Amino acid sequence: PDVSLTTVLHDAIGAHPDRPALDWYGATTTYAELGEQVRAAAAALAAAGVGAGDRVALVMPSCPQAVVAFYAVLELGGVVVEQNPLSPRDELQRSFTDHGARVAVVWDKSADTVAGLRLEHELTLFTVDISRALPLTKRLALRLPIRKARETRAAMTSRPSAGRSWDDAVRPRRGAATAPRPHVADPADVALLQYTGGTTGAPKAAMLTHRNLVANVAQSRAWVPDLQDGREVLYGILPLFHAYGMLLCLLMSVRLGACLVLFPRFDVDQVLEAMERRPATFLPGVPPIYARLADAAEERGIDLTSVRFAISGAMPLPAELVERWERLTGGVLVEGYGMTETSPIALGNPLAPTRRPGSVGLPFPSTEIRVVDPDEPSVDRPPGEPGELLIRGPQVFEGYWQQPEETAKVLLADGWLRTGDIVERSDDGFVTIVDRIKDLIISGGFNVYPSEVEEALCSHPLVAHAAVVGLPGKDGSEDVMAAVVPVEGEAPTEDELRRHVRERIAAYKAPRRIRIVDALPLSPVGKVLRREVRELLQAE
Ligand code: ATP
Ligand code: MG
Repeated sequence: PDVSLTTVLHDAIGAHPDRPALDWYGATTTYAELGEQVRAAAAALAAAGVGAGDRVALVMPSCPQAVVAFYAVLELGGVVVEQNPLSPRDELQRSFTDHGARVAVVWDKSADTVAGLRLEHELTLFTVDISRALPLTKRLALRLPIRKARETRAAMTSRPSAGRSWDDAVRPRRGAATAPRPHVADPADVALLQYTGGTTGAPKAAMLTHRNLVANVAQSRAWVPDLQDGREVLYGILPLFHAYGMLLCLLMSVRLGACLVLFPRFDVDQVLEAMERRPATFLPGVPPIYARLADAAEERGIDLTSVRFAISGAMPLPAELVERWERLTGGVLVEGYGMTETSPIALGNPLAPTRRPGSVGLPFPSTEIRVVDPDEPSVDRPPGEPGELLIRGPQVFEGYWQQPEETAKVLLADGWLRTGDIVERSDDGFVTIVDRIKDLIISGGFNVYPSEVEEALCSHPLVAHAAVVGLPGKDGSEDVMAAVVPVEGEAPTEDELRRHVRERIAAYKAPRRIRIVDALPLSPVGKVLRREVRELLQAE
């Protein structure tokens, strides 16, 4: 449908003005109030010079201000640029240079860093205090360092350059500049620059249009048809600055007229506390979130039966976890597949008896797929044979921001997107993810899929997590190397693990070295950052 994201918001405001749109530690914002706040924020951004087509960077964890800023930018026809709020300085320097936003809304923890970036243009900075408007006990619950009043005052007087207060700027007041007329976005306009996960290479910003995102919300809505408009309580545990949480939590919640319960980060206690206050009905997540919530609920006897729908993605979902979650909740947990470049969801397992455990299911409505020879994408592979997944549909992105060469590598002339993922398709069309092409290790002329080696390692009872990568070896070959996190309090030996693996997979796939580590480097949604694992193992 040819509508924009702001149309979807205004529809929700019109349909459910008095329903809670946001829940932030129990403090609610209704849809009507959200509309007012968006209008006031749009006025503040317009006064700072933001107009149609201008990029505005958001650097903050999930919080009400992030939602208001997101829609305020769109209301002006601007482009939202989402940034991980935990990014170190160098990463922020790289991305701000890349996207060139002249206005940024930044949580106070990153304000000094952003203010200190070396940029070729002036940057107007608004700072957000995410613990504002919360009683002290809730601030403590946020576990953010609360500065002593004196320090805060000193900081404010000595560093006025580190931004203006967003909360003051957007507070509706008499005599303030009135909001400009809402810009009616063309569905083809870019709404969002969303950086990809960066698990394999340097992050790139995917350009996602209003049409892409509205289409993907509609497709996701159709995936879970039993969701009820104006009734659901959606838990925003996934970060809203990541493609997955942005779509399945923020945009989906507004599309449903649901109440979005916001969490600045994943904390089991906070989620369980919220369950007592406002029980979740729809809880999008990733496997580690479901596993930890299930553990906690089992240990403490907490009731999760309000959760009817759970959607997992980003990484494989173990069948035992599905069984356990569904036993605890009485609801369903199914897996989908997607990538930032597909807004992000492209396939999903049906929420019906026809679903297939271990599979990411079938293409979304109006989405076509092909499985092809990665070296010759025009050649299709028959069912049952692994190949690269290609996707075509309304949610496929417009390209990478200012990277035509990278774009040309993945976006074929006829609209097909190369995913870089190796999959297998069954006779009846169900897709199973095998691995990523970039992660494939070529060792002594043989192909080694890290996921298979990781599975063999993880089947050892003392192994909690494993990551397998290829490091340059002799004669251009790669060596299979592993980093293993043991189960808490356990200390398996390298020999023992190697023996275990050798009983399960061919000798050429077995890791040459297995290093025991405390933790694996993870992305904001908990995906292993193989690039960093490689660096970690190389540094040895
Ligand atoms: P980068 O492209 O920057 O290296 P990234 O690909 O991890 O990072 P995302 O767009 O967040 O960034 O992730 C998309 C990828 O996640 C897919 O290409 C696929 O490899 C993986 N993925 C998504 N869903 C699943 C799933 N259900 N099971 C296994 N892997 C999945
Ligand atoms: Mg990717």
